[in-house]
Amino acid sequence: MNYTEVLVSEIKRLQETKTYKREIPLLSEQGGIVRVDGREVVMLASNNYLGLASHPRIKEAAIRGIKEYGYGVASVRFICGTQSIHKQLEEKISEFVGAEDTILFSSCFAANEGFFASLVNESLGYENYKDVIYSDRLNHASIIDGIRLCRAEVVDKKLYPHGDWRTLEQMLEEDKDKDYRFRIIATDGVFSMEGDMAPLPQLVELARKYNAILFVDDSHGLGVIGKTGRGTAEELGVFGQVEVLSGTLGKAIGGAAGGFISGKKEMIEYLRQKSRPYTFSNSLPPAVIMATLEAIKMLEEDTSLIDKLRENTLYFRREIKNLGFKIIDGIHPIVPIMLGEASLAMDMSEELLKEGVYIKGLWYPVVPKGEARLRAQISAALSKDDIDRALEAFKKVGKKFGVI
Ligand SMILES: *Cc1c(COP(=O)(O)O)cnc(C)c1O
Repeated sequence: MNYTEVLVSEIKRLQETKTYKREIPLLSEQGGIVRVDGREVVMLASNNYLGLASHPRIKEAAIRGIKEYGYGVASVRFICGTQSIHKQLEEKISEFVGAEDTILFSSCFAANEGFFASLVNESLGYENYKDVIYSDRLNHASIIDGIRLCRAEVVDKKLYPHGDWRTLEQMLEEDKDKDYRFRIIATDGVFSMEGDMAPLPQLVELARKYNAILFVDDSHGLGVIGKTGRGTAEELGVFGQVEVLSGTLGKAIGGAAGGFISGKKEMIEYLRQKSRPYTFSNSLPPAVIMATLEAIKMLEEDTSLIDKLRENTLYFRREIKNLGFKIIDGIHPIVPIMLGEASLAMDMSEELLKEGVYIKGLWYPVVPKGEARLRAQISAALSKDDIDRALEAFKKVGKKFGVI
């Protein structure tokens, strides 16, 4: 059998099962309005929550990074890929999230992949040890893959129902007298399919009570929620109390690339030694470092971007409901618009693009069967007029498909 024939048949199968991912090239920079097919459309699908992906101050900072520090460093961190600005950004992030220290990665995916295995697979002087990881059922693929890299002989991997801290508590209680070395609770801060938050105050409490390490990936929370944009922990009143925090620089905070883990200085120092995606993968380029420093500076200066994002989110959530659409209530700029059937979500997103709105649908297996939806993501880059334009399109298309 020719291997390409095998691949082609699999691709055909994917196309038939609606899990095939189509890419529509943008003809402009990322923003509130983007150009697609020569038309200007309202962007409701990006993670560009603060509009920094094409903000003049961020672009300037990135250019300054290239001019002063070069295009790249052509090295991993510990060989010769650490510039003073890498250390500055690590300090800046630590301060921003209320942690002792921070380690940068090429992405949050790499950060999460690097975290679990580097702790769990090393004996650290323990003989016949066993660790346990409790993971929220809806955690991001990067957490799932990070846990997959942990050797099954040395770790018990347990899933708890989404957001269900009571069941998690029962599981921790049942395991209380077992002789585990590390107990790790792993969760997203904000879940990208629902736009809901992990019950962090309860998880912080459980971690304390059962001597567990709480790991939170706040990629959709940092720069998005909390009074000053410091994420889910700030939003829920437990700022600085998450033991290990990971996040991305590819969403609200700039939107280019990069990830990090923040925590106690001993944890970060250990990860610098043992985390393989850090040790064996290239250092982040100066443009990204300088632009991220600028993004955090903007968040620290005042809350205007966060306020604008919150205002836009409240407005869109209220008006889309007024039109008669069913959404998952919440506070996050991720607004799931519930439709039920996969084909409806597919057809409506296509029709909305024709009407000038760029939005993506989600359906099984990404979300449960019968819960297909459109996922709107609101941004501070949108003006009220942009949002009104999108709402007009929703009204027209919703009526056409008999949804409202
Ligand atoms: C987007 C996302 C990631 C991946 O971030 P990258 O920096 O793009 O690798 C990881 N975890 C969560 C929860 C995310 O939402």
